[in-house]
Amino acid sequence: MKSAPPEPSGYEETISHSGHRLTPQRREVYDVLLAKRDHPTATEVFLRTKQQMPNISLATVYNCLETLVSCGLARQVNVEREATRFCANLQEHGHFVCEECDKVHDVPLATGRHLERAFDLPKGLTVTHSEITLRGLCAACAKTPQSKLRNPQPK
Ligand SMILES: [Zn+2]
Ligand SMILES: [Zn+2]
Repeated sequence: MKSAPPEPSGYEETISHSGHRLTPQRREVYDVLLAKRDHPTATEVFLRTKQQMPNISLATVYNCLETLVSCGLARQVNVEREATRFCANLQEHGHFVCEECDKVHDVPLATGRHLERAFDLPKGLTVTHSEITLRGLCAACAKTPQSKLRNPQPK
């Protein structure tokens, strides 16, 4: 019988283990990331958090995001030429970026696969974290005949 992957540990436990204080702002920002997993930018997180906490500032939101990333509750997703996005999915996964609509989708690893084993890692190197981004067209955009990729428009 295969053992199930360990459940991501709870917010309270993780944040206190990392030596950070459990502030209502951090909790709220984390809840925003969990509520809608569409890989929002910091500005989008700010606008959503503001609905619950009208007095929160963008700087505070940046700060909270930084803390969540540093204690491993969220990860940054960098898409070329774009603002950093944030992801609270803690399972090992890659990202698929649609080049047409810019939506970022989570792509789970195939069962039993491990990302670092896909590479012929030179001796002595240790992987501490991996990041993989796939690009292309999402299912919805692939159906659209006006796709930029299919009919590149001169700028
Ligand atoms: Zn798309
Ligand atoms: Zn993700």
